[in-house]
Amino acid sequence: MHLFPLFTDLKGRTVLVVGAGLVADRKIGLLLSAGARVIVGAHAAHPQVQARATAGDIELRLAPFDPAWLDEAWLVFAATNDRDLNQRVADAAIARRLFCNVVDDAELSSAQVPAIVDRSPITIAISSGGSAPVIARRLRERIESLFDPVLGALAALAQRKRLAIRQARPQLRARRDFYDWLLDGPIPGALRSNRPDDAETLLDQALSQGARPPSGKVLLVGAGPGDPGLLTLKGLRALNEADVILADRLVSPDVLALARRDAQVIDVGKAPGGPHESTQARIHALMVSHARQGRCVVRLKGGDPMVFGRGGEELQHLKGHGIAYEVVPGITAALACGAYAGIPLTHRDHAQTLTLATAHRQSSVGADPVHPQAEGRTLVYYMGVERLPELCGRLLADGHAPGTPCAIVENGSRPEQRTLHATLETVVAQAAHHSIRSPALAIVGGAAALGMELGWFGKTLGAIRPEPATLPAMAASA
Ligand code: SAH
Repeated sequence: MHLFPLFTDLKGRTVLVVGAGLVADRKIGLLLSAGARVIVGAHAAHPQVQARATAGDIELRLAPFDPAWLDEAWLVFAATNDRDLNQRVADAAIARRLFCNVVDDAELSSAQVPAIVDRSPITIAISSGGSAPVIARRLRERIESLFDPVLGALAALAQRKRLAIRQARPQLRARRDFYDWLLDGPIPGALRSNRPDDAETLLDQALSQGARPPSGKVLLVGAGPGDPGLLTLKGLRALNEADVILADRLVSPDVLALARRDAQVIDVGKAPGGPHESTQARIHALMVSHARQGRCVVRLKGGDPMVFGRGGEELQHLKGHGIAYEVVPGITAALACGAYAGIPLTHRDHAQTLTLATAHRQSSVGADPVHPQAEGRTLVYYMGVERLPELCGRLLADGHAPGTPCAIVENGSRPEQRTLHATLETVVAQAAHHSIRSPALAIVGGAAALGMELGWFGKTLGAIRPEPATLPAMAASA
């Protein structure tokens, strides 16, 4: 082992920092957060360090370095940009057998500060032994994203209840089971939902009654539109925690690849035109039965689970059956397609209102609140491509100008993305010509045309020609 990792309790202990620039200031902040009493010695101080002294957070000694400063210290930091001075501080520390960290100088340091993931009281420290700090930083980022911020609150709760747990579960085996339940059961969810009182009540009940509320739960997670980079950190954590994943057809395989390896993945996709109601009933039944067996069920839906995804119905079903749930939003197709096609969905000059609609509505002909005028607004339609002729027909019948820009984004955010630019009048023929397939959505309104100029991802097809508005008249006279 190149370096021995050690966690030190600095509360109330004096730490000397030599140097008072911005680099020193970062270390000072870290030391203060650990409760250290910080003495800063330097010939001059950055205003930020000065402000800490004025606030009484640190003791600032503006003077040339004096080895006697080390007399009170448990630990020393040298953070000046003068290597000779850093060397003298390091030597003074050696003479007193004090550990010394010289910032960014592994050679002079007898102690190094690791990259830190702070979920106090849980702390994760990573060191590359000074060989490649960038690797340690990268690792830290990865670990940051993996561990729920709630881990700290959970550990703090366990710490507070430690005695009570020991008394209620004197046997080691039972106690371990209890701690497992603490991690896997409903308590982390209650903490994540910002309901710490519920978490405490659940814990107390479980301790006193002996009966523990089942640990099963359902996480309704939005997988985003396809690009796995668009999954949220919470979504990723849910996939790492899942025992069972009920995945929709629209969920991209790249997102599923991020899931815990031993999670059971069940495809509950509704084939277009398939028996939707029976698949929905199956989804409801699967969620409830797996959760009742104590499993962590991730119900993974394309885009956002609460946008055109029957997320509401699924939650109602869970609520009705007393199953605990959480919802993790995802990036809905409209937002992803707008972004990845370079189409601003709102724009000061073109669209002040944004409507998300589905063309899948059964009834409704004629004047329809789902088809408001596109003037000054952007209309986004989630739909199967086969609905396009009907949609455009309705919009035209409702009085939209034939030349209204209409963009179709197919496979938004996926490597195979294609964006077709056309107008309400030309889009049906163009979509057929380019064999546009689902999943795709239509963006209608003045802002849609901006994508021709601003598009940056995937293929761009078609163009808006200025003459379409006159075409019907010509056709009539021909
Ligand atoms: N809950 C999902 C929508 C489900 S409805 C969400 O929030 O995005 C399914 C419709 O969404 C598809 O018919 C299509 O119109 C649209 N859609 C989903 N993913 C898409 C993608 N990657 N590109 C274009 N449209 C998409």
